[in-house]
Amino acid sequence: MTESRRFKNQIVIKGYNEGVTGSAIRCTVERSFYDDFQFLVDFGFYQGTEYEKLSYNNIKPLKLNAVFLTHNHLDHAGALPLLVKRGYSNKIYTSIPTSELLGIAYEDTLSIFSERVSEKNKKQKMLYNSDNVKKTLSLVKPTRYQKTINLGENLTAMLFENQHLVGASMVLIRSKVYDTQEVNILFTGDYNNKNSFLENVDLPEWVYKLKNLTIVTEATYGNTDSCEVKYVWADNMVEACMNGKSILLLGFAQGRIQELLYQIKCLQEQGLIPADYCIFSDGKSSIKYSFSYAQNKKLGIKPEMRNFFPSNLNFVDNKIRQTLLHSHGKRIIVSTSGMGNFGPARIYIPEMLPNENCVIHFSGYTAKGTLGKKLQEQSYGEPICISGITIPRRAEVLNTTEFSAHAKADELISFIKKFSDVRSVLVTHGEPEVKEKFAKRVAKETSVNKVGVLGNGYSYRIGPYGIIKSIQD
Ligand SMILES: [Zn+2]
Repeated sequence: MTESRRFKNQIVIKGYNEGVTGSAIRCTVERSFYDDFQFLVDFGFYQGTEYEKLSYNNIKPLKLNAVFLTHNHLDHAGALPLLVKRGYSNKIYTSIPTSELLGIAYEDTLSIFSERVSEKNKKQKMLYNSDNVKKTLSLVKPTRYQKTINLGENLTAMLFENQHLVGASMVLIRSKVYDTQEVNILFTGDYNNKNSFLENVDLPEWVYKLKNLTIVTEATYGNTDSCEVKYVWADNMVEACMNGKSILLLGFAQGRIQELLYQIKCLQEQGLIPADYCIFSDGKSSIKYSFSYAQNKKLGIKPEMRNFFPSNLNFVDNKIRQTLLHSHGKRIIVSTSGMGNFGPARIYIPEMLPNENCVIHFSGYTAKGTLGKKLQEQSYGEPICISGITIPRRAEVLNTTEFSAHAKADELISFIKKFSDVRSVLVTHGEPEVKEKFAKRVAKETSVNKVGVLGNGYSYRIGPYGIIKSIQD
């Protein structure tokens, strides 16, 4: 019997999230009966549903050999301390910038927990505590981009720059046993090819030329082409300012809030936001991220983008917030959370929603069930119940996807086409119907022969030539 017949080289991939939050992909590298290696790519929170209702309760932390964290968004990183609480004690590989920022994310999570717990039931336990967070951070292994991480014999990983977010990575796993064909899997994580704060770093040429590649791609905007994106934000802002309205801009703490502040600065410089408009930035963690972006050189921010603060900018603490809520000056409040469910948004929305002189502007994806989504579905005057108080919507509620940090369907297709030997594609991170639609598009528009969808009740066994078979859960 030859070596290659005794040894196999396969990776079983299972995705846990059906939709776009709660990212978690478990992979088992199977090479012989005594050699298997399990790792997780991301372990995030669900948004828009109760965090207690997690679908990934059957992940066994003690069996995991490694975790890769693609980026510092809570729907990818938020549940890692839970894994550690349940016994995980191996390394968490992530990029250096993400390792610098992760602590801010978990402070935020802990305060969301205490908000939720005190709202619902004081005796209810938090999902994890500050000790679990401390332990989690101690397991983080800050890793340079394009540096080989040795996981076992001929089993390696490598992180690559990704413009989705400062610190975001794609992860390449490579496995080879004796004379078996190599298996290469590239996880895009949340993916984008542009970011105001980062230099545009492409993958090295050799990655595009890799043999036997399977790509696990996100598909958040898998049913939207880039030409469909409407650039409405600047016009909305200018119109609201011309009408003297107060504006609440909501965004995610890392990435989006900084982008919004930068875009306000650009409008100010063009004279499109009047000088009598004061700008306020609220949300503890977003303020910390903003200062990190401005000051922390390890984040790799373009030097010319470190000074992204607009003029007339004030950072909001509890005292200023109270004054803000009860004053009527012209102001633009830039605040978390992006979907309106947490943080200062929960204080501003009920105050501004019944007021015709206000605009509430979301700046990206709002998941089903979140306050942001509900507000956008509400017609003028229609009441909504927020934290037990019924409020009519008289403010203008707007949204734009133009700042989205996710590549659109056509851009994802072009990305896949750049590789010379893609054997299979697995689609993850999208609403179920969007993932299905995108999978069909990949099958139709690229030369890939087999396309799977993660989080749809199947795991996939991957070999050198792509999907070997699907396995029903
Ligand atoms: Zn993300």
